Amino acid sequence: MPYTAGMSTLVCVPIMVTDEAAALRDAALARDAGADMVEFRVDDLFAGSASADDAARVARLVSASPLPCILTCRPTWEGGHYDGDDDVRVAMFERACVGLQAGEHAPRYIDVELAAYNRSDNLRLKVNLCVDAAREQSAGLILSSHDFDSRPADLTRRMLSMRSHGAARVHKVAFRARSLRDNIELFELVRQGDRPTIALGMGEFGLMSRVLAPKFGAFLTFASLRDASATAPGQPMVAQLLETFRFRSIRATTKVYGVVGWPVSHSLSPRIHNAGFGECAIDAVYLPMPIAAGATPGDNDASLKATLTELIEYVPLDFSGCSVTIPHKESLVRIAREQGWEIESGAAMIGAANTLVVSREGGRSRARVFNSDAPAAIECIKGAHGSRELAGLVIGVVGAGGAGRAIAFEAARAGATPIVFNRDRARADELAAAIRGATGVAAQCPAWDEMEDAACDVWVNCTPVGMKHGPAPEGLAIPDSALVRAAASRAIVMDTVYTPRETPLVKRARELGCTVVEGLEMFVRQAAMQFEAWTERRAPVEAFRRVVFAALAEA
Ligand code: NAP
Repeated sequence: MPYTAGMSTLVCVPIMVTDEAAALRDAALARDAGADMVEFRVDDLFAGSASADDAARVARLVSASPLPCILTCRPTWEGGHYDGDDDVRVAMFERACVGLQAGEHAPRYIDVELAAYNRSDNLRLKVNLCVDAAREQSAGLILSSHDFDSRPADLTRRMLSMRSHGAARVHKVAFRARSLRDNIELFELVRQGDRPTIALGMGEFGLMSRVLAPKFGAFLTFASLRDASATAPGQPMVAQLLETFRFRSIRATTKVYGVVGWPVSHSLSPRIHNAGFGECAIDAVYLPMPIAAGATPGDNDASLKATLTELIEYVPLDFSGCSVTIPHKESLVRIAREQGWEIESGAAMIGAANTLVVSREGGRSRARVFNSDAPAAIECIKGAHGSRELAGLVIGVVGAGGAGRAIAFEAARAGATPIVFNRDRARADELAAAIRGATGVAAQCPAWDEMEDAACDVWVNCTPVGMKHGPAPEGLAIPDSALVRAAASRAIVMDTVYTPRETPLVKRARELGCTVVEGLEMFVRQAAMQFEAWTERRAPVEAFRRVVFAALAEA
């Protein structure tokens, strides 16, 4: 019988103990940060040659903890640091549970590896006696199994073995997730568990299993106090879990969104969309969803398709849509064509989409894709121009990659004439020809050097020039001579780059007196269009801006 969760999923902060006073300070910080429990990992403190005095130190540490604690002494063969023998660590558990002295109390849980528990009758017997003796203090046994390399081939056998041991109060499984799809198996382990279960994916692909633990009724999730104190790869920080992902508001009905791309760990989108869900009291959460880049476009399409279809089809997840970023935007349109999903006309024309919307009715799912980058950019230009009409304007688009292609197409669809400049002129030529073919607008592609003498009503930088950590952070994407001319003709200059907020281009164009649009505004507007498509609610754009400004100020 699957176990039905009866209480909220706990947040547990693991603490590697090397010094008891520091560990207790961290436990107090964990409590103040909102955690429910700490795990004292005493593998380092409690060396193989430990004495009775060392065991007493551990017992005192447990007793002084400001939060209920799990006591763990993880051996090296299971990814920990303890290389002594089992008798010594069992004696430490006995001292902390059975040999308590006045004023001391037992840990809430002791964590023992399934492999050790299965291997030794003596250890099993003594561990059972420990939790039995401390039962009045609600002490319990967590039986655990870890694989830091991959999904264990014998996962089912391990789960069956755990279930055969009546003494365990909680089951814990953690393995390195190989892709997003491994999370689904971890969710099922929690759903099918016959008692409270912790099932976590290690590494960046496993973040979903950690954040969505309450959605599936997991016993607890681990979150680190600070970046460097994580005890397993991919553990979020407690502040990130509680504040960005709004962990306490996640429940069985929570809809799941995310940003699909590679890499996505630094994306600002989770901060924006989760803040938006919070602001509008929407029962939803938004996560980074890394899908590795394929070696070829075919490989890319295959892995994106396999993941998206599996996420959509796994009904308990309530996967309701995602932002899609580099390198999957073109794959998304190809997959949508193949799967018969609705494709918005702009995305079909551009050949790239950045948004997936999934809806469900009567047990059937429907998906549609669209591109919010291009209309967001055009909205920004219209705002700066002070008119809804762009017909007749000449728009210099610098760069013919994903952003350049989307903006040039959308400009043509809005009646403007795009002039595409690209280092690799063949790429600009191909784009201009595609625009002429699809829209009939006379798009052009002069040589890169001709930018110096060009005159446009609007300039848009769609290259990473000027981007922090990019190929030319100090570079000016548009030559100064063109900017001087732009200022004289009251032209608009827009940068799509938004890190930093004030790029060299934005700075120079402002100095010269041009009307300037920052990349951040486009970013906020494209996110707002996604949010509105998912929620059918007006996006809290001011909250989005606040979040982005704060994030950029921290960077
Ligand atoms: P992409 O597909 O990789 O295209 C990059 C483009 O930049 C290509 O045209 C490339 O020219 C050109 N380029 C690269 N390095 C250059 C250099 N050193 N000098 C001159 N040209 C260079 O990238 P993307 O997706 O279009 O993104 C481009 C920029 O747009 C990024 O910085 C991104 O941050 C920004 N963006 C912003 C938003 C927003 O919401 N604000 C949304 C999307 C994108 P070649 O063809 O000659 O290599």
